This record gives sequence, structure tokens and C-alpha cells, in this order.
Amino acid sequence: MTRLVWFRTDLRLHDNETLSSAVRAGDPVAFVYIHDDSSPLSGFRKKILAESLRSLSEGLRDLGSELLCLSGRPQEVLPRLCTQLGVNEVYFSRLTAFDERKTEDAVTQSLAKLGVATRRFQTHTLFCDEDAQGFELYRPMSFSKLRKLIEQRSWPIRPPLAAPENLPECPQLGTGSGFIYFDFKPWLAQAEPGLGFSCEGGERAALDFLTKYMGGGHLRTYKQTRNGLLEWTDSSKFSPYLALGCLSARLIYREVRAFEAAHGENLSTLWFLYELLWRDHFHFMAQVRGRELFTDPGRPKRELARGPAADKSFAAWRSGETGRPFIDAAMKELRLTGWLSNRMRQNAASFFVHDLGLDWREGAAWFEQNLIDYDPASNWGNWAYIAGAGFDHKPHSFDIEQQANMFDPDGAYRARW
Ligand SMILES: Cc1cc2nc3c(=O)[nH]c(=O)nc-3n(C[C@H](O)[C@H](O)[C@H](O)COP(=O)(O)OP(=O)(O)OC[C@H]3O[C@@H](n4cnc5c(N)ncnc54)[C@H](O)[C@@H]3O)c2cc1C
Repeated sequence: MTRLVWFRTDLRLHDNETLSSAVRAGDPVAFVYIHDDSSPLSGFRKKILAESLRSLSEGLRDLGSELLCLSGRPQEVLPRLCTQLGVNEVYFSRLTAFDERKTEDAVTQSLAKLGVATRRFQTHTLFCDEDAQGFELYRPMSFSKLRKLIEQRSWPIRPPLAAPENLPECPQLGTGSGFIYFDFKPWLAQAEPGLGFSCEGGERAALDFLTKYMGGGHLRTYKQTRNGLLEWTDSSKFSPYLALGCLSARLIYREVRAFEAAHGENLSTLWFLYELLWRDHFHFMAQVRGRELFTDPGRPKRELARGPAADKSFAAWRSGETGRPFIDAAMKELRLTGWLSNRMRQNAASFFVHDLGLDWREGAAWFEQNLIDYDPASNWGNWAYIAGAGFDHKPHSFDIEQQANMFDPDGAYRARW
């Protein structure tokens, strides 16, 4: 039996059931990442992806194996690869957003025609639907409903799996195999942002970062600092690592519980866990809503702005030239670093939808291209929530001046950007 692990946004060795299950039997296993370049990526997104792939490649190499990085559409590349390597079974992590699931289904179908089986694992979220004891997680549900259900039913969170200590033989591609290799190395050269938050991608950096955040005791005051706009310690900054799967949500959960055991539980630790649960909520909702999450125009209070005036407002918002310093600061921070705090994402999105009257889907697409922590379910789910395109169609708007007074009272954030 020869197996193949197709890495997606699960670029890690620890707590990766896809990987652990594939290598358990000790038969030959090949590892592949396939880059599909159909979506534009900012330089910062390219850099973090490249660093994450470098770290994964090195991790596999240290265990005696290797990562093949190829370009193309997975449903076309994988069947050819399986034929050339003699693969019988392909293992991958299942994701929740529409396009990613469509790709999974296309992969499964194209491999089935060759007699190659597929096995999918839920490695991305905190909760696993197999543990939901018959309860249907995938139906329209508010965050508070999900939270209450989880609390009432005491759903377990699986303990994180250790990284494998060694890997079986890796089948080799012959020369002239006809694949287009994906060379991520040029993407490593993107310059660091001069100001603001910057983050090195990859599992190794992620594990160090987790240790530094927990060891620094920052979690103890998370509830008070999470809306801060200037310091890396204001919130955890785990999202870039979670988005590419360099860190597992279940490992973070275990570390939070260990922190509580050592230092006591408080409102900050509880709040932090709620935030991780928001992430699961958006993933479950992405699965429920399918394509609609990306297409529903929502029910804005007024007609959407269209035509040259709307194009001009959109361009001004993107480049941070709306004339509203709080929003302009956010849009510059995003463009110059790929990062934005949750508070400023909310304000920038609310301003785009409710003040400029623009189509939220274009704003969400701009974030998708630029955020270093881009995650389809979290990005489109949060935008939809603000725009009134969530499953309950209730819009959420922010008073920008009030927000600036509350969260940037001395103007330090506006001054920085
Ligand atoms: C318009 C908009 C777009 C967003 N796009 C993304 C995105 O593409 N990728 C992304 O990971 N998050 C997105 N978020 C959610 C949130 O802003 C980020 O997860 C958070 O700012 C990341 O910072 P942190 O890791 O320091 O979070 P912390 O405050 O330390 O929270 C811990 C973790 O909880 C999760 N989390 C926290 N808040 C949310 C939330 N509202 N929704 C989902 N998960 C949450 C994240 O995984 C985060 O890393 C978006 C929010 C808005 C309003």
C-alpha cells in the first residue's frame, strides 16, 4: 500500500490527524503541497505561505522524508501524481468553505476513477463533528446558541496529537515527470514591514510564538488588552498561524488550560476561549451556507453605491485616503503590513458597508488578498455579519468617531499610520 498526504491549510507535523493516520502503518508515504495560483496574493501573504512551506519541508526532511511542491489544480495534479507514484490512498484535511469543498469533491471523483481511495480528516477546528453525539452542528445557528449547546453537552475537545517521530519511506518521482514545480523561495524575499506587527510563518516559528505568548503571561490580561491597536501583546496574534494550519486550535486550547491550571482561570482566559469558539462558529456557518456565503448581497439599509463615484470611494478606502483618519490609518496598516486588529477590521468593514454604501463582497475580497491571516470562513463570515448578509440578515454597524474616541483616545494609532 502506498499513501499520499496532500497538505492544504494544515502545514504542520503536530496534531495533524491526516499525517499521523497516513504514516501509522509504516507503508511508503509521499507528501505534496499544490499551489493553485488562481487567486491574487499580496507580498505579505506570499511570504508567510513560503515560510510555512519552508518550515514544513525542513520538518519532513529532518524525519527522513520530503515535501513535493507542485503547481496546478489539485483535481488535475493528484491523479497524475498518484499514477506515477503508484499511490493507493490519498489523505487530506477537509475544509469548510465552498471552493475548498468543491475542490475536495472534484479530487475525490477524479481519484475514484483511477481506483484511488481518499480519506478526509477534520484538523482545522477545535470541535470535531464526529464528537457531537448525533447533534447536527451544520445548521443555521447564532454564536450564543452554539456556545450554550457546547457548554450544556460538554462536548469534548480532542487532545492534540504529537508529531510523528519518524516517517516511512517516501516514493520518488522519476526525472522528466512532467509536473510544474512550485518554487516558493523567491517569495521569502518580501521585505518585513518597517512598522507594526510582522510575523515569521511556519510551524517552528508558530510553536516558539505560542510558548512566548503563554510564557509572557499575556493571556492573564487578554480581556483588557484585546482591543488595543499598537502592541503585539494586545491580542494573541495566533491567527496567521491558525489560518495556514501551522498551529492547531486544539494545541492552543491545551495550552490555555495548562495556563489556567498554573495561574488560575479568569475572565481573560474564558474570553480567549470564546474567541476561538467564534472561529469554529464561522467555520460551521461556512459549511452550512456554501456558495451563498460568498454571493449573498445582504440586505443593506439603502441601495448599494454603483458607478464612477463608487469606484472612487472604493479606491480611496483601499489606499487609506477617505479623509477619515481612523479608517485611513487602518487601511494603511493593512497595506503596509498585511495585519489589522479585530477592532480595526470591524471599523474598516463597517465604514465600507454602512458609511460608503459599497458592496461588502468587494471589501471582503480586498481583505482576502491582503490579510496575512486570511481564512475564508472567518473573513467572509465576519464581513457578512457586519453587512447584514449573515444567516439572520441582521446588519451590525459602528459609529466611527465614537470608536476612535474609545479605542484611540490619544490619537497614537492615527499618528503611527
Ligand atoms: C471584517 C473582518 C474580517 C476578518 N478576517 C479574518 C480572517 O481572514 N482570518 C482570521 O483568522 N480572522 C479574521 N477575522 C477575525 C479576527 O479579526 C481575527 O481572527 C483576529 O483579529 C486575529 O487576531 P488575534 O489572533 O490576535 O486574535 P485573538 O483576539 O487573540 O483571538 C484568538 C483567536 O480567536 C479567533 N478569533 C478571534 N476573533 C475572531 C472572530 N471575530 N472571528 C473568527 N475568529 C476569531 C482567531 O483564530 C484568533 O487568532 C476578521 C474579522 C473581521 C471583523
